[in-house]
Amino acid sequence: SDSHFPVPISPSHVDYCLHYPQLFPSTGQADNSKKIQFADVGCGFGGLLISLSTLFPKTLMIGMELRDKVTEYAKEHISSLRVANPGQYQNVSVVCTNSMKYIPNYFKKGQLSKMFFLFPDPHFKEKNHRRRVTNPFLLDEYAYVLEDGGIIYTITDVEELGDWMKSCLENHPMFEALTEKELEANPVVKLSSSATEEGQKVARNGGQAFQAVFRRIVPTNQA
Ligand code: SAM
Repeated sequence: SDSHFPVPISPSHVDYCLHYPQLFPSTGQADNSKKIQFADVGCGFGGLLISLSTLFPKTLMIGMELRDKVTEYAKEHISSLRVANPGQYQNVSVVCTNSMKYIPNYFKKGQLSKMFFLFPDPHFKEKNHRRRVTNPFLLDEYAYVLEDGGIIYTITDVEELGDWMKSCLENHPMFEALTEKELEANPVVKLSSSATEEGQKVARNGGQAFQAVFRRIVPTNQA
């Protein structure tokens, strides 16, 4: 059950003071100009966010992780980095939650500029594909919380899952693939394959990784 973690009833109930205490010292809501913009879904130990934190020091970012022990580990890692590097890592946090159920509780329409799905659990059996974090129903939800032009980064070492994620995104009316040129010019594409714990494991073992990076399109005026 999900009863072991609290869930905010709406994005305006997300406690920014708890996650980013130095940036939001008093209790109350975050003002609109300072909302979380990056979400790492199934962040594991949080390696990607920790790299992104210094690359995008002005952007608020959060990892969502289902396992509470893993979330605690990531939280402690961030706390110790904050202590060792005063003024840094204040923009990064993690939360223990089930992202497949609660994304709309955390982010409002058009709030996010980047979402990451890095080395998600494969759920090999056909009947379990609905449990995959990039299933077509959830892509609707991601299109809702992403801003126009916002980017979804996916990667896996399981070829079949890589093909599946890519085809779900290709078949969704609200997403289009980045071009080769755009992929090369985007430093986050490279980080998303190398900065997570799982990515490093795959690289150490000489494994292949299958990446799909898509943009949420700006809807054309249908009038
Ligand atoms: N992204 C990390 C990386 O690349 O190192 C972790 C990859 S790990 C294979 C997949 C992670 O997704 C696990 O830590 C798992 O607990 C988490 N996860 C699975 N289902 C989830 C869900 N519904 N909500 C949040 N996290 C989930």
